[in-house]
Amino acid sequence: MSRLISATVLLVFVFAGLTAAQIEVPAGSDAALSIPVAVFHGARPGPVLAIVAGSHGTEYTSIIALEKLITTLNPAEISGTVIIVPLINIQSFEQKVPHLNPVDKKSMNRWYPGKMDGTQTDRASFLITKQVVEQCDHLIDLHGGDLDESLRPYSYWTKTGNEKQDQISREMVLAFGLDHIIISADRDGFGFRSRSHHHLSRPAQRPAGFTLSREHRHHARQTLHHG
Ligand SMILES: [Zn+2]
Repeated sequence: MSRLISATVLLVFVFAGLTAAQIEVPAGSDAALSIPVAVFHGARPGPVLAIVAGSHGTEYTSIIALEKLITTLNPAEISGTVIIVPLINIQSFEQKVPHLNPVDKKSMNRWYPGKMDGTQTDRASFLITKQVVEQCDHLIDLHGGDLDESLRPYSYWTKTGNEKQDQISREMVLAFGLDHIIISADRDGFGFRSRSHHHLSRPAQRPAGFTLSREHRHHARQTLHHG
């Protein structure tokens, strides 16, 4: 009976336009990792929005927010597609380790676009780049005060020099409704290894080898983050 119920629930989800999936990070120099993903296929065509959280696995508010969003989004009311990754840094969450992935001691916010011959954070970053970032038109990366932080809510708006992208990301930041916005325009270079949000918000400056699957894509990124 329970098996029948599970099958029924699964069918309902599929027909309702929700697909549950995993980003499968294979084992390498360290352990494998499965990162859960929920994909909502809206009833009408439209852009692809990705919302991710938990690259710092003890910033609970945004992780919980996305878990709630998964249970409340109605594909029938959506135009386009919504990709939700509620918890990237699973070992940080499970082991209650702030800031870093305890497997390789790296921040999972700072190693994009990643690489497959690196540690777990590198491999996860690479696959998130391919399977989430390159699949979306807009991306929101949610953070929050970590275990040792007390923050007021704020967003980043990164001015890239790409006028169309900057306009969209500005609208997204304003729509989020927080009364403090940090305008980031003075960070030089790609900063991929130290500042992942450069990678996510500066498509015009991506290095060779990192190409967009659709040229018109705009990676607007909004964060509730501590830098
Ligand atoms: Zn964070």
